[in-house]
Amino acid sequence: MVDLNGQYQSIKERINSSILSILDSSAFINGPEVHAFQNELEEYLGVKHVIPCANGTDALQIAMMGLGLQPGDEVITADFTFAATVEVIALLQLTPVLVDVDEDTFNIDITAVEQAITPRTKAIVPVHLFGQCANMDALMALAKKHNLYVIEDNAQAIGANYTGANGNKQKAGTIGHVGSTSFFPSKNLGCYGDGGAIFTNDDTLAHTIRGIVNHGMYERYHHDVVGVNSRLDSIQAAVLRAKLPLLDSYCEARRIAARKYSKAFKGQPNIAVPVTVNNCDGICDTCDCHVFHQYTLRITNGKRDALAQHLNDKQIPFGVYYPIPLHKQKAYAEVRYNETDFPVTNQLVNEVISLPMHTELDDEQISYISHTVIGFVNG
Ligand SMILES: *Cc1c(COP(=O)(O)O)cnc(C)c1O
Repeated sequence: MVDLNGQYQSIKERINSSILSILDSSAFINGPEVHAFQNELEEYLGVKHVIPCANGTDALQIAMMGLGLQPGDEVITADFTFAATVEVIALLQLTPVLVDVDEDTFNIDITAVEQAITPRTKAIVPVHLFGQCANMDALMALAKKHNLYVIEDNAQAIGANYTGANGNKQKAGTIGHVGSTSFFPSKNLGCYGDGGAIFTNDDTLAHTIRGIVNHGMYERYHHDVVGVNSRLDSIQAAVLRAKLPLLDSYCEARRIAARKYSKAFKGQPNIAVPVTVNNCDGICDTCDCHVFHQYTLRITNGKRDALAQHLNDKQIPFGVYYPIPLHKQKAYAEVRYNETDFPVTNQLVNEVISLPMHTELDDEQISYISHTVIGFVNG
């Protein structure tokens, strides 16, 4: 699915020398490397504050702690996402409210969000699934109207641009009140272990969060709030500093691969290719709204599982993200959920299949993979 080694080989010297210099410095935690990465990422994203932390799940949790969400507060998020999003909501004893997603973009359905808002709702967590932003204009308008926070789970869309209705371009994760991301190795900007970060333009919130990540300390050994221990280490920061200048070219390599896949699938019945919607008329030949963390097809003739088996036999990697909707997971199922509220998620879990997507894909691989898929689905 990903070719981390191929990517490493192309940047090996830079990475190795950065890591060795950390070993020489012995500044493993909160060293200058972490600070430099923080500044460079702030610059890249055009956001006032980046707070590095230990992973993307922590980033979400800390964002919610920073906003002061209290047990019983309702937080609306998508039914079709990785469990981390709903996990931290539940862990903080907030009430997760799962809603359906949009069939074309896989992102949170705005009408469903609106219908789920109650007087207890405090926040909305859009997940920019597979590399494309949710409809942030609509979400920010809803948030303003109902006085809610928007926390962007940007683990899959770092580097994506979002063009608002006013024509302004902003980076994914910097549009809501706070955003989070993950540097897990297979993410678009991945380190060689665990890592994450929180983004915000709010000075007060940034200050609060900087204390929370460090045991609630704003002054040494003065613990003003209940915090956590969540740090990005210097070795991971060194890897990320080496890779950040390449992020745009990595995103472009993914887009080029996605366009080639979509061209190969063009006109094929039963195979729905990813749809891009932000200000690019769905064509996306030139735009930068999608960074294709995953290239995800919908197989609409009921042959998804059989295709998965076939790809397995042909030794072509694939992923099914996600096979079970969160509202049906044991840990998060609630009697108040009605199956009729999740028609799209219930359909997507049977249709989606993600093909190999990374920065090192070549034409021959894309052609072989797409022909194998077409031959099986429509053969
Ligand atoms: C990867 C991911 C996370 C969690 O990131 P970790 O660094 O693995 O904790 C959260 N949300 C989404 C949507 C993800 O894809």
